[in-house]
Amino acid sequence: MNIRNCKECGKLFQYDGISKLCYNCRRKDDEDFKRVKEFLYENPKETITVVSEETEVSQDKILRYLREGKLEISADSSGIILDCESCGQAIRTGRYCEKCVRDIERGLKAGFVRKEEKKRTESKRSKKMYTVEMKNKRN
Ligand SMILES: [Zn+2]
Ligand SMILES: [Zn+2]
Repeated sequence: MNIRNCKECGKLFQYDGISKLCYNCRRKDDEDFKRVKEFLYENPKETITVVSEETEVSQDKILRYLREGKLEISADSSGIILDCESCGQAIRTGRYCEKCVRDIERGLKAGFVRKEEKKRTESKRSKKMYTVEMKNKRN
């Protein structure tokens, strides 16, 4: 059995490998999330302060839902501002804007390709050195 402390209330609970919260906190978290989602659906233009007050869910938690991509700011909302963690541009959900997501993906791929190429040139070089050595011995 894998027992952990709940990240929210600190109580011990049986860890299922997914949630860092105990059963009670997880259920409460789900309820909070549903309240925020429903409130935002009906009041898309409210500011985060109002959303937090009306739903009794902390602003930090609402922002966390947005960062986790669980919630999305509606297209015509002007109340909640979420910015890209990389370039600061306004985004509607998640942590990065579309452009930065693309850049990050490309960067990761480029890094991978470079590594592969390096490996290949290194093996070529060692082969060449070997031939040179052979020649020297023969002379
Ligand atoms: Zn808990
Ligand atoms: Zn960005």
